[in-house]
Amino acid sequence: MKLDRGYPLVRAEDGALYRCEHAIALVKEHTLRAAIGDRVAIDVGEGHDKALIKEILPRTSQLVRKDPSEQALSQVLAANFDRVLVAQPLTDLNIRRLERELVLAHETGAAVSVILTKADLAATEGQQESVLGRVRGLVGTGGVSVVSTADPVSIEALRALIPPGEVAVLVGKSGVGKSSLVNLLVGHEVQKTADVRDTDGKGRHTTVSREMIEIPGGGRVVDMPGIRGLGLWDADAGIEAAFSDIEELAGACRFRDCKHEAEPGCAVCAAVRQGVLAEGRLASWRALKQETAAIQGRREEAARLRTRSGHPRTRKPPPPPEEDES
Ligand code: GDP
Ligand code: ZN
Repeated sequence: MKLDRGYPLVRAEDGALYRCEHAIALVKEHTLRAAIGDRVAIDVGEGHDKALIKEILPRTSQLVRKDPSEQALSQVLAANFDRVLVAQPLTDLNIRRLERELVLAHETGAAVSVILTKADLAATEGQQESVLGRVRGLVGTGGVSVVSTADPVSIEALRALIPPGEVAVLVGKSGVGKSSLVNLLVGHEVQKTADVRDTDGKGRHTTVSREMIEIPGGGRVVDMPGIRGLGLWDADAGIEAAFSDIEELAGACRFRDCKHEAEPGCAVCAAVRQGVLAEGRLASWRALKQETAAIQGRREEAARLRTRSGHPRTRKPPPPPEEDES
C-alpha cells in the first residue's frame, strides 16, 4: 500500500495494516523487492512489531525503469495496475519527455492515457487545440484528456478512467499537478501540493512516498512523485507501441532490418524528406533505440561477469525513496 522511508506497508485481506520486512530467503534468492501494488504473502509472527514478506506473487503488470544508481539493474516502481496516466502541463508540453514516458508506459502492457493539466493557463482556445492535436498524433484521439483544477467537470473524464476495481498509476514530472488531481478525485486533501510544501521552508525537496490511494466510488490511484530518472530498461515493445507511426512506415522499407539511416529504399527516410514525418521524431526514436540497446549490452556483460565469478549477485538493499525533483 505504501513505500516511504520506513518499511513497506502491507494491507491484509481483513484490512489490517502491517509494516513488513522482506524475508531473508526472499532477498537472497531473488532480486525481487515489493513494489507499490504488489500482492504478497506475509507471516505475522506473534510478538514481533513487523511482519515478514515471504513471497511476492506474479505480477500482471509492472512499471520498470533502469535503477538510476546502478549500471545494469532495473527498478520496479509499481505493479499490478490497469492503466498508466501520463501527466504533462498543457501550456508547457515537453514532447521529448512525453515520448519517453509513453515508451515506459506502453512497455508495461497496461492501457495508456495522457492527461494534459492546467488547461486554464492556456491563453487561447487555439493554443489548447494545437497542443491537443499534437498529443492526439502520438496516442490517438481517445488517449488524451484535458483537465484543470479550475474546472471540476474536466476531472470527471479522468475519474472515468479509474473505475471501481481498477488501479491507475499517475506519472509525470514534479509540479505538473498530479497531487492536485488526486485530491480532487478523492474529494479532500490526501496529497500535499506544491503550495503547501513550499510553506515548510524546504522548497520542493520534501520527502515523498508512494502510496495507493482509494477514490471514493472509484478505483485506486498511485501517485508516482516526480521521479528523477526515467531511464529505459526493456523497451523494445514500448518503443514499438509509442512509435507506431514509424513502425508502420518501416513496413515499406526495402530491408526488413532497415535502421532508417541511409539505406536505399528506406520508407521512413523518404517520409522525413517529404515532410510526412518530423525529423525530430525520427531522432527521438533513434536515441531511445540506442539507449535500450546500450542497457541491454550492459546487462549481458553483467550476466557474463556473474557466471564467471560463480556468484549470483545479490542485490543491495534498495535506497530510500528519492527526494522529489525540483
Ligand atoms: P505535482 O508535483 O505533480 O503533484 O503537482 P501539484 O499538484 O503539487 O501542483 C503543482 C502546482 O501547480 C501547485 O501550485 C498547484 O496549485 C498548481 N496547479 C495544479 N493544477 C493546476 C491547474 O489545473 N491549474 C492551475 N492554474 N494550477 C494548477
Ligand atoms: Zn527504413
